[in-house]
Amino acid sequence: MVSPAQLPHVSSKSGFGDNVWRFDHILPGSVKGDGRIDWAFEFPVRRRFTDPDFDGLRTTAKHFLLSLRHYPPSGRPSRADHGLVRTFLALRTLLRWMEGQGLMRFAQLDRVTTNRFVASETDRRHHVTGEPLTATTISKSLKLVNDLWVQRSLLDDAPPEDPLDAEWAHKLRTPHAAGVGHPYTPDEIVVPLLAAAVRLTGQPAEDVIALRDQVQRHYDNAIGAGFGRTYAGRIAIKAARSFQFSTLPGEAAPWEAPFTSTKRLRYLLDRVIDACFVLIAWLVGPRASEIVGLTCGCIKEHGAADGAETYHYLVGRIWKGAGPGGRQHRWPAPAPVVHAITLMERLSEPMRLRTGRDELWLAMGSTGVIGPTPRIELGSKAAWLGRLNTGFASYIKLPDYQGRRWHLSTIQGRKTFARMVAKRDRTGLDALRAHLGHIARAMTDRHYVGTDFDLKELVDRHALDETRTALEALLTAPRLGGRAGRAIAARSQFRGRVVDAEVRTWVGNVLHETDMRLGTCDWGWCLYRRESASCLGDEHGPNPVLRTHSVCTGCANFAVAQRHRPVWERRRQRNDDLLAFPDLDPDSRALAQVRIAECDRILLELDDPSPDTAAPAVAQPKHSAQRCP
Ligand code: SF4
Repeated sequence: MVSPAQLPHVSSKSGFGDNVWRFDHILPGSVKGDGRIDWAFEFPVRRRFTDPDFDGLRTTAKHFLLSLRHYPPSGRPSRADHGLVRTFLALRTLLRWMEGQGLMRFAQLDRVTTNRFVASETDRRHHVTGEPLTATTISKSLKLVNDLWVQRSLLDDAPPEDPLDAEWAHKLRTPHAAGVGHPYTPDEIVVPLLAAAVRLTGQPAEDVIALRDQVQRHYDNAIGAGFGRTYAGRIAIKAARSFQFSTLPGEAAPWEAPFTSTKRLRYLLDRVIDACFVLIAWLVGPRASEIVGLTCGCIKEHGAADGAETYHYLVGRIWKGAGPGGRQHRWPAPAPVVHAITLMERLSEPMRLRTGRDELWLAMGSTGVIGPTPRIELGSKAAWLGRLNTGFASYIKLPDYQGRRWHLSTIQGRKTFARMVAKRDRTGLDALRAHLGHIARAMTDRHYVGTDFDLKELVDRHALDETRTALEALLTAPRLGGRAGRAIAARSQFRGRVVDAEVRTWVGNVLHETDMRLGTCDWGWCLYRRESASCLGDEHGPNPVLRTHSVCTGCANFAVAQRHRPVWERRRQRNDDLLAFPDLDPDSRALAQVRIAECDRILLELDDPSPDTAAPAVAQPKHSAQRCP
């Protein structure tokens, strides 16, 4: 066991024995409580963790936390101050559950007891929203009990055995497999989200900034002339009432109703700021604290060696796994993000001038224009989350997902970004291509994530998860379409079964023994082999230019499952609608008929209960070491 003497201090403000630990370093976007741990928390029955009954458990809990900082598990970085606070929150949940069960030692957390705890977490509802806990929260509980076991040699009270059975260990590796939540934003949400953000940061942002400048100027003049704040506000509104909002291309009316209140102006400014936040979070992938910590002048330009192209970088700081001040980092920034930062520099200018600070996300604590004594501070992460899910989501009318309101989070932006890079196929983002310019190309490059190794790992994990999920579905599907799909359906020993431990183990072994990655796209899966690739791909994978629905339907590498059916049904409908045009030229008519025939063939294969055993053989996954996209 590690003694307090070996763990000499908690921070410059707190010692090991204190009931409240106050830390020295908090992240940008943190609130005051994020920098402290209060060991005197209450249990439901009016007992506190600082009561003498809990002395032993409390000492071990403190040792455990500090051990993660001073003696982190092998291969893991030392836990920073904010990481300790987060681990404490998960630990507090466990301790409250233990108290309710009458457990006074971590040694009582055997596998059966731990399974009961984790099961109670999956049943638990969020105390505010009433929603089931997210997969991330549940995975934190799993990690916590796992860490107690991993750190056992440093503690005098630890779980007596590895507390996670194989099933939970699998869920720890793939949190979304816990059956709750979603690790990234699905295409049905991310496309309208990014489209709205791009739209809002165009001409509407210019209008809002121009209006703000005009209103603020009139307001300041009125204050300077000796009028009170309320009357100065009225003067400013009256003076700017004739402001004309633009009518956007393809739209019949101005994008916003005539200006009538400074509160509405502040609301619009906030929505433009939200849009900038969304673009940075979803198209670059930094964490919330890294975004909120960005400062004026954070975009740097670099010319390519041949002078043919110019690259932009977002320069900020990463705190995770770094020392107290974080470490500088550069993220390659696509055009929409460069534009978002330029807008943020203009939007934050009045706040920066008033405070003498240089952060881009300084926010005013009140609505309306900036008064003589404004309260300006850096918004907290929680405040950003609230803004994204209430203000921004409702302003852009974000659609529901599978009948439910979709909850946006900043970490989701990072995971979505990682998935988009990992997937290497952005067919779902077609609608954005015109706006996003080179990003579709840039995202196919693994180097796009720069030197953010954590993000690289996230990308690799997503590619692996995509492959794992696709393989499990491929092997168990009762019916598959596509030439490779029908061959697999005819031979798979798991056909028609649910995905159980045996299937997972088999797939896990395949992934362990090979570096196989399946190519996923909206319309099916690609079991890539260069020699049979109809799209003429190379040793790195399919040719993205020739890879289309039509080419894939004739390719021996292609497999389609029921989950892809809506894509083929929609494609058939679109071409059917096209044929209804009387003026359609003969070439387009013939092409539409060919496409309808392709869709019909795939849909028929998905309906057909008898797999085509005569289909050409495909490489069995076990022997495939081909690295696919
Ligand atoms: S054409 Fe064949 S190899 Fe190319 S992406 Fe489609 S299925 Fe894969």
